[in-house]
Parts: sequence; structure tokens; C-alpha cells
Amino acid sequence: MEFEPVIGLEVHAQLKTRTKIFCSCATAFGAPPNTQVCPVCLGLPGVLPVLNRKVVDFALRLALAVSCEIARESRFARKNYFYPDLPKGYQISQYELPIAEHGRLEIETEAGTRTVRIRRIHLEEDAGKLVHDAHPGKSRVDFNRAGVPLVEIVSEPDLDSPAAAGACLRALRALVRWLGISDGNLEEGSFRCDANVSLKPQGSPVLGTRTELKNLNSFRFVERAIEREIERQREVLTEGGAVVQETRLYDPERDRTVSMRGKEEAHDYRYFPEPDLPPLRIEEAWIEAVRRDLPELPEARRRRFAASLGLSPYDAGVLTSDRALADYFEAALSRFPQPKTVANWVMGPLLALLNERGLEADAAPVAPEALAGLLALVAQETISAKSAKEVFAEMAESGAAPEAVVAARGLSQISAEADLEAIARGVLARCPAEVEAYRAGKKKLMGFFVGELMKETRGRANPKTANELLARLLKS
Ligand code: ADP
Ligand code: MG
Ligand code: ZN
Repeated sequence: MEFEPVIGLEVHAQLKTRTKIFCSCATAFGAPPNTQVCPVCLGLPGVLPVLNRKVVDFALRLALAVSCEIARESRFARKNYFYPDLPKGYQISQYELPIAEHGRLEIETEAGTRTVRIRRIHLEEDAGKLVHDAHPGKSRVDFNRAGVPLVEIVSEPDLDSPAAAGACLRALRALVRWLGISDGNLEEGSFRCDANVSLKPQGSPVLGTRTELKNLNSFRFVERAIEREIERQREVLTEGGAVVQETRLYDPERDRTVSMRGKEEAHDYRYFPEPDLPPLRIEEAWIEAVRRDLPELPEARRRRFAASLGLSPYDAGVLTSDRALADYFEAALSRFPQPKTVANWVMGPLLALLNERGLEADAAPVAPEALAGLLALVAQETISAKSAKEVFAEMAESGAAPEAVVAARGLSQISAEADLEAIARGVLARCPAEVEAYRAGKKKLMGFFVGELMKETRGRANPKTANELLARLLKS
């Protein structure tokens, strides 16, 4: 029997508010352990949580960006479980009434554009962090992260391959970063993904039993883990066995998923309404204010780049994969209005430079204005396209303006025939055999003469001038 995979994602994104969700402790990453804590986030008796308004603003941004219905009234609940990183013995989370439901996200897959339905988005607090390796034989706990705001985004099981799951996760990450609500950093844990995976007989409307994969802290692992889990389930089913509903961990060393624990059910958590927080009421005016302030979204910008700038869907997709990159592109374009040329430079040399130095586009060592200036020098034939690469590298190194680099390196193109004539005559004088062959009809030797002239001028000869000049000299 043929099986097809069914995948749904649960994604946690840390919101980058300045303070925590229910107290005024700082949320900055990397502070010394237990320096950003207070009686509220430590769960000491006799204190009350107060909801951070900014957290709601951020969640609304996301909810609107994925076209969710927003609950005019949502509630917080206590999710009870014991773990040493959870000081209160429960996590405050939205359960029955989340802040937003029924959204959709467009993703680009190899099979084209797909819609992934978003089941719900809810608010919750993060737990602390166990530190296992700092003290031999001891585990310690850092509560700085306890109470950091999270949104959990739950997709419907609409994904049908590891690549589609990866694309969905990338789109979500790009979106939270685009909206400025989360760093979306998988490695640092500000963006976390659990993947639910099941198989069903090809074409069947009935979903199979799923497992939930955790410990997926890079895009590569997410796709790899899902792939291995699909293989494992296929084997189990093919041998006539049954998939057990459970939580599994991905072990990157052995490249396989391993059973971690039986799947917990909602009733295991003894959810009950949080008595210390009133229901969260959101008026229309609040939603409208957030909507008004939304930036142009990646999807809309991608379509605009393709439709009104004539870029290919691929180029438009790359340029809108990150808001800072899209801003960079448009800033350069406003000064050098040739979309395809600017796109090639941004996606080529600029992205290579950013990747190499691990920088975001808004910290690019070559400013968009400077790149536009460089492209203008090429367009005016002051420098050749080839020298432009060299100038760009130097600009990235020293931060100098393109004109300054061209002057300092003597790279300006020689476009006047008069300036090239003596050199061109020298080239022809050195190569009498080729000249004779050319005059006898071997016209493709022109490339050879131009090449020689380029060598002599270290690539500075204007190719058009060089061609015309050599043709004239060879005729006489
Ligand atoms: P829980 O919160 O207990 O993990 P949910 O029913 O809320 O359970 O589902 C969580 C995630 O699992 C959702 O992303 C959903 O799309 C996905 N999911 C549910 N059923 C299946 C299934 N049979 N196969 C794959 N994914 C599934
Ligand atoms: Mg789950
Ligand atoms: Zn606190």
C-alpha cells in the first residue's frame, strides 16, 4: 500500500517586548542567570500577574497578518505540570479561548503556492531554562526566561512533505521578523518548532495516528527529522504494525527519531481558568489601530515586485524573504531605477557578502546609496562591469565611496579612441600573423585582439570603443 505523509506544525515564537508578559522584568537575552526575575515570574506567594499590553499588540499584528479571526474576548488558563524550570507549578497559557483562530498562510513550495490553514494563535509565558553543563554533576536553573512572552502558532495538518513543512516554518519565521515581533532565531531558541507527523493510505480522508517531534533546533533538522520519521512510520505500517501516539526526539548524531514519552492528553494538564487575570477584551478600535500600522506584508510586496517591477517570481521571492533586504533593494532602486540590474547585484554580490559576514541587510557594509552609485558608474561607462565587482569588494572592505575607489585604483574605463589608439597599434604590431589571418577573412580573431588590448589596459578599455577602433585599424 502507498502512504502519504500528513504534517502539522506547532511553533513557539518569543515576542521581543522589552518586558515580560506578566511583570516588568527585562527580557534581554544573555544576561547573567537569575538577574531578570521578580516575585511574579518566580511564582512567590501573594503576587498577581498583570498582562503586558505590548504582548497583545504584537500578537494582533501576527494574527492580522495571517488573516485570523480575532476573539473579542479570550481567556488565560493554568496548565499544570511539574518541572524544575516552572516555578509556579503551572504555566499561564490560553487554552479554550485563544486570542485568534482560523487564519491562513501562503507558502511557496516546489509544487507552487500552497495555503496552510492556521488553526489558532495563543498567548503564553515561557518557562525557565535548566543549565546542565556549567557545573559537573549538577543541574541548575536560570529563571530569566520564565515569563518571557510567547505566541504559539498551530497549523492545521495541511503539509504533505518535509520540504513543505520547512517552507511553512521559513515563511512563519520571515513573517514574525518582518512584523518586528520576534527575532525568529531557532538556534538561540527564540523560535521553536514541534512537528506532528502521521501517514495515511494514499487518498484516504482519514488521518492516521501521529507522533510529535521535538528538539528541532535548525531548519535542516526539522526537515531531516520529519523525513526520518516518515520512513520509520512507513516501515511500521508496511510490516502490519501500528504507530503509537507519542512524543519523539530527533537525535542528530544518529539521524533518527527516538521515543521520549507517551503523548500527554489535555486532561493530563488539569487546565483550569486563571483566577488572577480577567478575560482579555479587545475592542474593534484596538484591532483597527494595529491594522493601520501594519507594514506592507511579504506576500503583497512579492507580488508588487513581480507585477510592477517585472522581476521573476523567484527573484521577487528572494528579495522579500527578509524585510531589511527588501528595504535595501528598494532604497538602491530609488537611486538607480533598473530593477533587474539592482536585483542581480543584491541577490549576488550583496547577499554573498552578508552571508560571509553573518550580517543582516540593514547592517550591510555597502549602503544601498553606495551600491546605486556604483551601478551608475557602470551605466555611464566610467568603469566596466568587471571592474565593478572589484570596486564593490573594496567598498565592502573600506567603506569608501565608489568614485573614490575608482580614482584610487585607476580603474576608470578608457573610452576615447585617442587614448587607446597607441596601445591598439602596439597590439597589432606584435601579432603580424594574426593580423594577416584576420585580413584574409578569419574575422573571429577580433575577440583575440580585443582580449590582448584588455590585457594591456588591465581591463580598462571600453569594449565597444576597443572593437570599433581595432576594426578600423585592421581595415587600413
Ligand atoms: P496537541 O496540542 O495535543 O499537540 P492538537 O490536536 O492541537 O494536539 O494538534 C496539534 C498539531 O498536530 C496541529 O498542528 C495539527 O495540525 C497536528 N495534527 C493533528 N492531527 C494530526 C495528524 N493525524 N497527523 C499530523 N498532524 C496532526
Ligand atoms: Mg502538541
Ligand atoms: Zn518578573
